[in-house]
Amino acid sequence: WLCTLLLALSSACSSPKEQAEKSIEQQIDDLIAQMTLEEKVGQMNQYNGFYDMTGPAPSEGNAKNKYEHIKHGLVGSMLNVKGAENVRKMQQLAVDSSRLGIPMIFGFDVIHGHKTIFPIPLAESASWDLEAIEKSARVAAVEASAEGLNWTFAPMVDISRDPRWGRVMEGAGEDPYLGSKIGVARIKGFQGDDLSANNTIAACAKHWAGYGFAEGGRDYNTVDVSTSTLYNVIFPPFKAAIEEADVKTIMNSFNIINGIPATANEFLLRDVLKGNWEFSGFVVSDWSSGAEMIAHGYAKDLEDVAIKATNAGSDMDMESYANVANLVDAVKNGKVREKVIDDAVRRILRVKFELGLFDDPYRYCDENREKELLFHPDHIAAALDMARKSIVLLKNQNSLLPLKKTQKKIAVIGALANDKNSPLGNWRMAGDDNTAVSVLEGLTSYCPDASYAEGARLVTGPEAFATELEINTTDRSGFAEALKLAKQSEVVIMVLGEHGLHSGEARSRADLGLPGLQQELLEAVYQVNPNIVLVLMNGRPLTVCWAEEHVPAIVEAWQPGIQAGNAIVQVLFGDYNPSGKLPMTFPRSVAHIPVYYNAFSTGRPGPKTEVFWPHYMDQTHQPLFPFGYGLSYSTFEYSGLSVQQTGPQQFEVSVQVSNTSSTNGEEVIQLYIRDRVASIVRPVKELKGFEKRMIKAGETVTIKFKLTAKELGFYNGKGQFLVEAGDFDLWVGPNSAEGLHTEFSIH
Ligand code: BGC
Repeated sequence: WLCTLLLALSSACSSPKEQAEKSIEQQIDDLIAQMTLEEKVGQMNQYNGFYDMTGPAPSEGNAKNKYEHIKHGLVGSMLNVKGAENVRKMQQLAVDSSRLGIPMIFGFDVIHGHKTIFPIPLAESASWDLEAIEKSARVAAVEASAEGLNWTFAPMVDISRDPRWGRVMEGAGEDPYLGSKIGVARIKGFQGDDLSANNTIAACAKHWAGYGFAEGGRDYNTVDVSTSTLYNVIFPPFKAAIEEADVKTIMNSFNIINGIPATANEFLLRDVLKGNWEFSGFVVSDWSSGAEMIAHGYAKDLEDVAIKATNAGSDMDMESYANVANLVDAVKNGKVREKVIDDAVRRILRVKFELGLFDDPYRYCDENREKELLFHPDHIAAALDMARKSIVLLKNQNSLLPLKKTQKKIAVIGALANDKNSPLGNWRMAGDDNTAVSVLEGLTSYCPDASYAEGARLVTGPEAFATELEINTTDRSGFAEALKLAKQSEVVIMVLGEHGLHSGEARSRADLGLPGLQQELLEAVYQVNPNIVLVLMNGRPLTVCWAEEHVPAIVEAWQPGIQAGNAIVQVLFGDYNPSGKLPMTFPRSVAHIPVYYNAFSTGRPGPKTEVFWPHYMDQTHQPLFPFGYGLSYSTFEYSGLSVQQTGPQQFEVSVQVSNTSSTNGEEVIQLYIRDRVASIVRPVKELKGFEKRMIKAGETVTIKFKLTAKELGFYNGKGQFLVEAGDFDLWVGPNSAEGLHTEFSIH
């Protein structure tokens, strides 16, 4: 009776959340006790639903197909099945036909919106607006869950310093502090306050780890980074995802770390993720990243893959067909302990319980919600708001912008101005083609008489497979008309940049200029009319040096999503005052890469030692546009920077920012520090705080930041977090290259 009393007392003391968690763990125990080894391994298997489901599952000699596997409880998850009806049918196979009726979890790449396509993630990151970013993910979750989905393979929280890497479009740029905040916002948006609600979905922080550091920016390439870079640059967004947003899943990366593929990397998975950080969700491999270990030279065959990945801590195999065909024997042969399998299964079941799939496996399948919610007007409005916030004003000589609404004789030039597809960007798996408002369409409500010429085509091959080679068009037949229009006009709006498929997975580029004949077209138009507003649409930083030197106004619009044209035009005509700031440095040339603001000082930091300092003889090594940079139609002045110590390792920073113009505007106030002398060398600047604030014309606001141990410390090469006494520099300003300076010390 004493035990019963103690038990009753302990449950009376625990919170409802703890009780629910306890009951989930209890239910998992009960379920695992009933499962055969085959069924357990089945939970660790994920199949793709795009292709033929009735043919033999590739690893099976006995002609069992994927449907049969589902019916036998051998599939824990499907990816790429969507639509309430399709998901219900597939779920029914698992629930009605398998012995234990364990529901499957349905994953999908919901990357920037679902049906209502939002700006690409890099663009959203340029807003520095965490609330808007969270809302964007929330809208995506509402739409995706209405289509039967309950798991997204997002956000990608890989930090990258290499714009040649096409996947920079999918991330938050180069900075671990900004990247962590944005990752957390997106996870909160997807997962909401209550994961069991039918409009929230499990998120997946990916790719663990180092994928953004592919050598030469070539996707899937080798990664070779120091432990210090892992801990201080690559890990922080993942750690924040777990600690601050309770992310439910993590995806492996394709690359090796210290010679070991991430998918079988015990240090990454067992020591850091599940060990130090106590991650309680599950790890899914990337698409066939298990099988790729054979080509890496780390595994002999699929059996070896299953054993190595599982022992190292990968829980679910996406499309390698390794686990389901090999793990049962591996346990029987003593190569994998059943305890290890049980732990993986427990993690997968835990997420399924938390999603509410055991209460009602069809809770996400509701055709009425689907009809009501996809492309809901509120979602379109949110996409417009996000797109406007993502736009970065890069140059505005002589206040050419905003254009006057009475402006006559506007010429619009460039294939992208008339494109309803490219503005949607890559990684929009559920989005419908050609659903974006083009720039030309956006312009009709402002200046219906604007005249248009394409000038140069963007791609010559089939759009769906736009590759670098297909953009090397030599067709200049459209130039004459474009030049004629430009000559007759007062202002020329040129919309140039990348096709929507020029960035994204496997879309690395070696030349980061304007693709095809666009640069030539720009220079030719400039000869006849230099009054150009250049609108850039692209998925990565571009080396647009010539434009920066010559063109009076440049607007970075990225790939802004479904409301592209409306958002751009509102900025051009001043109905929206731009407030975006670059989340990634723009290099002057590809040879500069990697160029990023939070670099280390060398022993030869400046030109004092004449030729013997790390510079190029033929070009400045300064960036074209620095991290954090972006203009506004307002002007802001910073003053009164001060730092006060408020505790042993705590400081309060205060600064005043005035809007010195006659236009209300938003400013992103950025705080950077440098730890001058430390036990490992620290970067010359590190972002440690920012605030986006609307400041009315003529108004002055006081902005306060708090610095705590978290911001002041760093990880040493052994992964230990240290806050060291010493002197620090501190800057607060409008970007990483400008700002007021002061200093403080930790004693
Ligand atoms: C990508 C992942 C993605 C997965 C599923 C892989 O090729 O690297 O980011 O989630 O495919 O589509």
